[in-house]
Amino acid sequence: MAEGKSFFVDTTKCTACRGCQIACKQWNQRIAEKTSSRGSHQNPPDLSYSTWKLVRFSEVPGEKVNWYFFPDQCRHCVSPPCKEVADGKAKGAVIHDEKTGAVIFSPKVKIKLEDFKEIREACPYDIPRIHSATGIIGKCTMCIDRIKEGMLPACVKACPTATMNFGDRKAVLEMANKRLSEVKGVYKDAMLANPDDVRVIFLLADDPKKYHKFAVAENIIGITRKMALKRILRPLRNFQMIG
Ligand code: SF4
Ligand code: SF4
Repeated sequence: MAEGKSFFVDTTKCTACRGCQIACKQWNQRIAEKTSSRGSHQNPPDLSYSTWKLVRFSEVPGEKVNWYFFPDQCRHCVSPPCKEVADGKAKGAVIHDEKTGAVIFSPKVKIKLEDFKEIREACPYDIPRIHSATGIIGKCTMCIDRIKEGMLPACVKACPTATMNFGDRKAVLEMANKRLSEVKGVYKDAMLANPDDVRVIFLLADDPKKYHKFAVAENIIGITRKMALKRILRPLRNFQMIG
């Protein structure tokens, strides 16, 4: 089993206060983005080079309207497909920290736009973003500068409801499985999202698609070769870039 660190994100406790989103911006000195009212409480509309943590809001009509909150971020995959693709394009662009398991894009390595598209397509969670003018990739770093000093990641420290948790992987997996069995009595479809493959383990109370299109990887096993290649060969998604 992979060691290192992990997050547990218990979405059953999330109030969508966005404290985590703001704390991430503040600690990592990411600039604010101009936003507008779009008929949703989710703002900005998507992750970007400047926004590494985004609380997604999804409104699902039923007998009553249901809100699903999803504090999205890089999952710090145990075997990161982004690194596998990046290694063949720009060596050193992605660093996989051995001790913590954090997956970090180097701000010193510039990536060509066409290469970046392949890296983003390889990510099962649609996470990396690029500054198109500089060719630098931006995404969650696990707050590795904080955790190396014994501090919690900024989003975890700021969360007032214990939705965001962080620690040694074994303890985090135990916490996640314990909480899953607790909530099963209330939410029969509750599940952990790809717990064996990622270091940011989400507990979801309902169908993952109700939270976010990329909440769960449909098949992360073998994605580094077969699926990444398939994705590279199919038409690329539209990308939102800043710069
Ligand atoms: S979630 Fe995406 S960007 Fe993050 S480590 Fe996994 S493949 Fe890379
Ligand atoms: S700080 Fe915690 S409760 Fe607030 S939006 Fe983030 S995860 Fe949810």
